Amino acid sequence: MSEKSIKIKNAKTHNLKGIDVEIPHNKFVVVSGVSGSGKSSLAFDTLYAEGQRRYVESLSAYVRQFLGRMNKPEVDYITGLPPSIAIEQKVISNNPRSTVGTTTEIYEYLKLLFARVGKTISPISNSEVKRDNINDITLFIEQLPKDTEVYLMSPIILPNGREMNDHLQILSQQGFNRIFANNKAIRISDYIDNKMSYKTVLLLIDRVKNDGTTETKNRIADSLQVALYEGNNRCEIAYFIDNKILRKKFSKAFEKDGITFSPPTPEMFSFNNPMGACTKCEGFGKTIDIAEDLVVPDKSLSIYEDAIVCWKSDASKDWKNALIYSAEKFKFPIHKPYCKLTDKQISLLWHGNEYFGGIYQYFDFVKSQQYKIQYRVLLSRYRGVTVCPECNGTRLKKEANYVKLTFLQK
Ligand SMILES: [Zn+2]
Repeated sequence: MSEKSIKIKNAKTHNLKGIDVEIPHNKFVVVSGVSGSGKSSLAFDTLYAEGQRRYVESLSAYVRQFLGRMNKPEVDYITGLPPSIAIEQKVISNNPRSTVGTTTEIYEYLKLLFARVGKTISPISNSEVKRDNINDITLFIEQLPKDTEVYLMSPIILPNGREMNDHLQILSQQGFNRIFANNKAIRISDYIDNKMSYKTVLLLIDRVKNDGTTETKNRIADSLQVALYEGNNRCEIAYFIDNKILRKKFSKAFEKDGITFSPPTPEMFSFNNPMGACTKCEGFGKTIDIAEDLVVPDKSLSIYEDAIVCWKSDASKDWKNALIYSAEKFKFPIHKPYCKLTDKQISLLWHGNEYFGGIYQYFDFVKSQQYKIQYRVLLSRYRGVTVCPECNGTRLKKEANYVKLTFLQK
C-alpha cells in the first residue's frame, strides 16, 4: 500500500462529532479517552466496520447473500485502510495454546496459504522439491536437440532376498531385453552368460530418437509409464549430445536429495494437531528442560567472568577451562558479555565443538550421574520452563519450516 497512514474524514458514527483522524501505519497506536467519548465508535464501529465491509464487498454476490448487509459507517471517506481485524477486550483466554493468530483466526488463513501456495525447499540443496509427472519428463525430452538419442530406464528394485541374475531372468521372461550399465546398453542374456557384474544396473525400457513426431511422443509417453511402474515411481533417462552421455533422474514421489518430504497440508502448520505439532514440546513451544535463564542468570557477564554459573564450581570448572584454553583456535570472544554474543556463538556454547564440550554435553554428563544425590540436586537447580530447543518456540515440526512462500523472498 502506497499510503503511509489511515486517513479518516468527518466520522460521525454514534456520538462522534465529525472528526478527522490520521493514524500512521506500522505503529502501535492507542486511542484513549473518558467513558462515552467515542473510542469504540471510532475503533470498532468506524475503522473495523469499514475494513470488514470492504472485505465482504470483495466477495461474490452469491457469498454476500449469506453474510447479511453491512452498513457503511457514517464517514465521508477512509483511505489507506489495510484489512482489519478486531480482538475484543473480553476475549482473554488463559489457554496456553491460544495465540494472537488463533484467537483472531488469522492462523487459519495462514495455514491454508502455506498449504496451497507454499513450496517445499530441500534443506540440503536449497532447491524446490517437486513431483515429476509424465508430462514434465516428456517436456524435458522434447526440449533436447532434435534427433537426440534418448534411453528411458528404470532403477531395478530387487525383491527381498532375490539375487540380481535371478531377477534379470524374470524380467527377461516379461519381455525386457536389455539393461543399462557402465554407460551402455547390454543384452540381459549377455550379462548373465558372461557373468558381468556392475554396481548400478538399470532396466532399459526403450530407446528413441527425439524426432518430434506425434508417433514418437506417444511412444515416449507410453514407455515412461512402464518405466515409472517398473521403477516404483522413479525413472532415469540417458541422452547423447556431441557423443557425450548425459543422465537425469525423475521421480513421481515427493522427494529430493534422498529425503522423502510430506506434501504441505493445512494440518502440517497446526500446532494443535499431532500432524504439525513439534514432538518434543507437543506444540506448546516451551518445555521443562535446562533453562538458559538459570544457566546464565546474568547475561552482562562474559564467559571468562563465569556467565555460565554451572561451570563455576571446583568440580566443573574444567569444562569452562576447556573452552577458554581452546577459544583462540576458533576465535571465540571469551571476554565479550553473553548478551553481546551472536546467535551462532551462543549455539556453539550450548552444543560445543571438537575442542570443548558444550553446556548440553555437560548436562548429559550430569544426567548420567543422577544416581548420586548431589547431581540430582544440581540438575534440579537448572531445570525450568524454557523455549523448546527442538522447534525454537515455533511449536511446529521442522518439516513445516521446509515450506516457503517463495514470492515473499523475491
Ligand atoms: Zn518444540
